[in-house]
Amino acid sequence: MEIYLHIPFCGSKCRYCDFASWPGQEALMPAYVEAVCAEAQAMAEAWPDTQAETVFIGGGTPSILPPELLDRLLDGVLRRFPLAPGAEFTSEANPGTLTAAWLETALRHGVNRLSMGMQALQPELLRTLGRRHTFADVEASVRLARAAGIRNLSLDLMFGLPGQTEADWAESLDAALSLEPEHLSCYGLIPEDGTPLKADLDAGRLTLPEEETERAMYDTAIRRLAGAGFAQYEISNFARPGFACRHNIGYWRRVPYIGLGAAAASCLPGRGEGIESVRTTNPAGIRDYIAMAGAGDWSRRAVETVSPEDARFESMMLGLRMNEGVSEEDFRRMHGVSLTSVYGPRLRSLAARGLVEHADGCWRLTRRGMDIQNSILVELMED
Ligand code: SF4
Repeated sequence: MEIYLHIPFCGSKCRYCDFASWPGQEALMPAYVEAVCAEAQAMAEAWPDTQAETVFIGGGTPSILPPELLDRLLDGVLRRFPLAPGAEFTSEANPGTLTAAWLETALRHGVNRLSMGMQALQPELLRTLGRRHTFADVEASVRLARAAGIRNLSLDLMFGLPGQTEADWAESLDAALSLEPEHLSCYGLIPEDGTPLKADLDAGRLTLPEEETERAMYDTAIRRLAGAGFAQYEISNFARPGFACRHNIGYWRRVPYIGLGAAAASCLPGRGEGIESVRTTNPAGIRDYIAMAGAGDWSRRAVETVSPEDARFESMMLGLRMNEGVSEEDFRRMHGVSLTSVYGPRLRSLAARGLVEHADGCWRLTRRGMDIQNSILVELMED
């Protein structure tokens, strides 16, 4: 089982961010931690004897949780969901917020992978994004993490930013590589409605790079990172051999997961005719979440049942994000039918147009297919 823990606290709100995260809510941290422990207890009762194959602490900014609260949180969760031998245990962290005491606590509980949001090298681009840190903060946090014993470090970068040139992007990639991470995530900016950045774009105060420029940036990332020994294993993710993120791969392969915390989602095997799995989502607001856990009223979660047909499509939608694609064997094991019996004619038509390819028992997108992934998925939808 995969376990996700959501920490909805941030030092400030970045200008592009629409995640469930809020600044200035530190007073709620102790009650929030207790609420997550209560939810872990309830989930463990529903899914007894469950071990955590992977754990991912995301946010928000997990690294602003005071060490004593992190200690209480991880103690409460791992007591209910002990780590399986060799489990991957990731925490996100923001540069400039990491401390030796936080790292010591995290590592004591088994954290063995850190994912840090660097985003860009240039101070003006970081300002455009509303990020609080500088590259010097990233360098200092990486040093601290390495000194604490982190051997698996990932950095997040963003491209397609307003005002970002191809040269800026290449410099950001080089700066990230100079820190010798084991893993890099490169995300194209998606301006989300309701964010200050989107408002600036709509009002013409900021301008995005041309689509062609953004594509060239993506190609640069693939080329430069391959040259530096990183294999691309998913649309946005690159890793040195042996360092691909197991938690995210599990998500793309539809491994069941339990999400704890505000806005966290769980996807668990369904019980009942025509229900392949059930997805539940917690209330996003911190106070709403604490109130739900305090009352033990888990019916306040949003519930969505996933039919066998939807589950098959999810396997394609998520699996085609990965460079290795969707394995025919895994598909049959998960869904009880062969992949080609469901998608064969559509896949063969896409292959004839050079958009997907079949090799080693897997169907995957070609480079050209990756550029139009959404329209491929529309074509794959069952009638
Ligand atoms: S640090 Fe992350 S979660 Fe927090 S506001 Fe910025 S982008 Fe959002």
